[in-house]
Amino acid sequence: MPNTLHRRLIVGNWKMNPATVAEAKKLARIFRRVATSLVHTEAVICPPLSFISICSGRSLFTKKSSPHFHMGAQVASTQEEGGPHTGEVGAQMLRDLGVEYVIVGHSEQRKRGDTDEIVAARLKAVLGQGLTPILCIGESVRDESGAYLSVLKDQIKASCGDILKKSAKSIIVAYEPIWAIGAAEAMKAEDVYETSLFIKKVFADLYGADMGLKVTVLYGGSVTYRNAPDIIAIGKVDGLLVGRESVNAPGFVELLKAVDLVK
Ligand code: PEP
Repeated sequence: MPNTLHRRLIVGNWKMNPATVAEAKKLARIFRRVATSLVHTEAVICPPLSFISICSGRSLFTKKSSPHFHMGAQVASTQEEGGPHTGEVGAQMLRDLGVEYVIVGHSEQRKRGDTDEIVAARLKAVLGQGLTPILCIGESVRDESGAYLSVLKDQIKASCGDILKKSAKSIIVAYEPIWAIGAAEAMKAEDVYETSLFIKKVFADLYGADMGLKVTVLYGGSVTYRNAPDIIAIGKVDGLLVGRESVNAPGFVELLKAVDLVK
């Protein structure tokens, strides 16, 4: 989906869940059905790589595609060509499975060793296949002096530094403050708004004022069906990246419906 489309994007990051194929199929069926009735919202599910095939419209459903329902992946290889890369799954293979979106630079992967260089290489590989990257950025602490803003700016610059404006147009930024991931509460919606403005400004400085206006910014970190409407309405973000609540079927269904109703 091009990021010029003014529909809200709700991305479910299933992480290493659920445990079985049967549960994954069930979740996918439920979310697909709900997505069909959405008016202002697009739903993306990012199951583990092993479940993408069975969750995508190609094998599970008779119709090839479903309105407002998209497949995403949690990671793609840095390698742009197939070859001796044991354990890797390339962006081209994901595209062939019907994947449209790929999460890049999630903090849990950065913690396991993804450096800025690796994140930049994954971003390039994803863009190279015409897929839409969801670039995760976020500070680990929010200090009084505002140093966290430099962290965000540096992460964007390190990932996008070599990317030309033509390609950068399809990058989606997911602002996920690390301290708010898996936490008891999400960030305050007012603070989400301020930070998303800052991210847009960094894009404007890098690529020109039009990109600052157009870049799609999502918020992620302890989003639930309860706080999602305020984060969208007050935080004025273009969508959400949802972890735990995205594998809780009733919660994610409520979340999609609630966001769809936000004016
Ligand atoms: C995440 O890890 O991307 C995330 C947002 O998790 P949670 O919603 O569980 O905080």
